[in-house]
Amino acid sequence: MHVGAPPPQQQQQLPRHPPPGGAPQFRTFGSSQPPPQGTGGPPRPTGGTFIPVGVPPPPVGVSHPPAVLGPCNPSQLSAPAGQQFRQYNQSPLLGGPPPPGGQFHSASQQPANQFRAAGNPVMSGGSQGMKSYSEQQPVPDIDFSIQVPERFLRFTTKKFPSNAGLSGACRLPFGGVIRPLAPSIDEGDGVSVVNPSSSGIVRCKSCRTYINPFVNWIENGRRWRCNICGVLNDVPSAYFCHLDEQGRRRDADTRPEISEAVVEYIAPAEYMVRPPQPPAYFFVIDVSLQAVQSGVLARVAEGIKSGLVDLTGDDRTMVGFITYDNSVHYYVLRGGSSGPQMLVVSDLANLFVPAPEDLFVNLADSRDVVHNFLDSLPDMFSKNQVRDSCLGPALKAAFTVSKQVGGKMCVFQSAMPNLGDGTLQFRENPRIMGTQEEYQILRPGNMWYKDTALEFSKAQICVDMFLFPFHYIDAASLGELPRRTAGQLYSYPSFDATTDGPKFVSELRRTLTRETAFEAVMRVRCTKGFKINHFYGNFHIRGTDLLALPNCTSDSVFGFEIQHDEHNVNNSVLTVQSALLYTSSEGQRRIRVHTQALAVSNSQQEIMETADAETITCLVSKRALEISLSNSIDTARTKIQQTCIDILRSAKGGGGYGGAGYPSQQQQEEKEIPASLKLLPLYTLALIKNVAFRGGNDVHPDERVQARMRMACMYVPDCRYFVYPRMLSIHDMDGSAGRPAAEGVEVKPSTVAGKLKVVLPKAVNLSGERLLASCVFLVDSGVDMFLWVGSAAGEEVFNSLFGVNSIEGCSSAEV
Ligand SMILES: [Zn+2]
Repeated sequence: MHVGAPPPQQQQQLPRHPPPGGAPQFRTFGSSQPPPQGTGGPPRPTGGTFIPVGVPPPPVGVSHPPAVLGPCNPSQLSAPAGQQFRQYNQSPLLGGPPPPGGQFHSASQQPANQFRAAGNPVMSGGSQGMKSYSEQQPVPDIDFSIQVPERFLRFTTKKFPSNAGLSGACRLPFGGVIRPLAPSIDEGDGVSVVNPSSSGIVRCKSCRTYINPFVNWIENGRRWRCNICGVLNDVPSAYFCHLDEQGRRRDADTRPEISEAVVEYIAPAEYMVRPPQPPAYFFVIDVSLQAVQSGVLARVAEGIKSGLVDLTGDDRTMVGFITYDNSVHYYVLRGGSSGPQMLVVSDLANLFVPAPEDLFVNLADSRDVVHNFLDSLPDMFSKNQVRDSCLGPALKAAFTVSKQVGGKMCVFQSAMPNLGDGTLQFRENPRIMGTQEEYQILRPGNMWYKDTALEFSKAQICVDMFLFPFHYIDAASLGELPRRTAGQLYSYPSFDATTDGPKFVSELRRTLTRETAFEAVMRVRCTKGFKINHFYGNFHIRGTDLLALPNCTSDSVFGFEIQHDEHNVNNSVLTVQSALLYTSSEGQRRIRVHTQALAVSNSQQEIMETADAETITCLVSKRALEISLSNSIDTARTKIQQTCIDILRSAKGGGGYGGAGYPSQQQQEEKEIPASLKLLPLYTLALIKNVAFRGGNDVHPDERVQARMRMACMYVPDCRYFVYPRMLSIHDMDGSAGRPAAEGVEVKPSTVAGKLKVVLPKAVNLSGERLLASCVFLVDSGVDMFLWVGSAAGEEVFNSLFGVNSIEGCSSAEV
């Protein structure tokens, strides 16, 4: 039995990493740097030049993951503290103290039978890649088979360039998209929960990185080197464990935090600034004439009631309601009272707020009164003739009531606010639509909502806003509230209670019942030499790099870009770690940590081959949304197109980097684009035609804002469908469609839906040529679905689908 560690080395020989600087990793937080413009000749003709006919859509994750509660699996707790001591005592090395000095595992020290290097393309890839490693640092003993599942985190490439020059030559947007609380897809893929022992949560003393599977253990386990900043840390004695022959801790398999890429800690008291807040939901409801007449109010009451029944969280859950038209209405919902009491305040300038404890109540204690209130709400205002809407004062009132607790605020607005604070002006101007000036009405016209949002964020209040515009409502100004409080904007133009009602009720229900993390903050760290230079999504940045998220849900998504901080990177591995600190619906303070190691490469070709066209499209779209606000939509479209052209040119070996062996023009033309990028031109063309970027003057500004808000928060597969919808062939479905996939049969994720893996009809290329009169297609953008029915589809098809013999007898309302 081999028990010895490698020969002790002198301490001074150790630091092959740069000396510990102790400086924070995120000194700067600049605006995103658009990629340099290409200067070469004209691009190849756009269109489907690079898209081979019949290329199936690439595999993607489930587009609409169902709301799932609690992906965490408490049964996978870490070994109790006692076991650690037992292991320590039983260690064969107990005879003497661990030898001083350390060991630094390089690839050459790995045993031949290591799964981690052998057969792993990241480690055993092209010879050029291996050469580059030897020129840099020795490859640390990194187990690249430990991966963050794709539902949480995707990068634009699987390898990152080793220097800024190469990064520029690749022309790729480097970065990733993260969905920290993505629901689990299958049974058993939950996240391991770690309950830290007396040693607390082990973190780097310099940069506060959480211990993870990619750190280097040295001095036989007495110290570890941080893979983010390079600093050497002592292992707390209660956390100590000896290393095995491969330099891996002997207890690694029982400790998820050093063997899995995603873990969740139960946070000790030092991670709380106050006792964990209860789950809290406040509803702010417009009851003006428009909301009542259109049926919005009735549907709102129905949706809230349905959601409250299945709210996540325990019996500490709190709810409150405010309604408003030209005055603000409070509701006392104390449990045990005969019914809800209403208090009307019409002085909007000096808003009186009655005792908050009666207005924000425990749901379990007051459930009957709350249900009574929701049942009677539509009737209470059925005769309301007031057209005015004082959203601003109502928000201030709701803030006063809920600011001590925080939580989720759902706002339902049908008319443009025209009374008190937050009054908005009619800014719609058809003459500037489709021109360079259009971006002006996509920016907020009133800073009140932005300023209010920052107040809300400080008080841990997140706003989800539901708009029901019948005319221009200025979603651009209103949208600042959800944008900066980590909420979402939903819009239902010209709401029809019959056709739009079910969609709205379902989305509201999902908002209330999906996993929701309260009073959250998130930070993303990366290895020294790189930096995170921009974030995308809905949040407010506190300090330089802390995302303040009053709520983070299973649908929350954030993009980030990674840039070189130093010209040359002194590491052969880039590690990215995100940490989300939050309060769960059950009132537990938790930290969700995702850590991903990526190889650093010197080879442009190698990097381009690992590119991910879907993630690139997702990140490019988020970047272009910001360009369209700061510059113009036209500029954003040009950037999207130019990025694609530059990437393809780079993939063909152009771009001016590479020195000797730089391919000639002819060689470039003949060279194939890597398979990973073949669909990029298609996605690019689709993206510039999306309602968020489309030219022309036929897009209503509120519609544009809604599409922008959705796209800013979309995860990779959803964005892919939103940009390039899938078209399912309905007229020729076989018997398996619509049924759960047969057990034991391997299925591609894109061909099934939901937890039951229901087989979808066959997907076909989204092309006008396919729309033959004899066919029926379902087009799914992830947000809307369209049923396309050919006029000459057979009688049998009509009968089986709609129960009628021809399209004449078919009512669209019934479909
Ligand atoms: Zn560190």
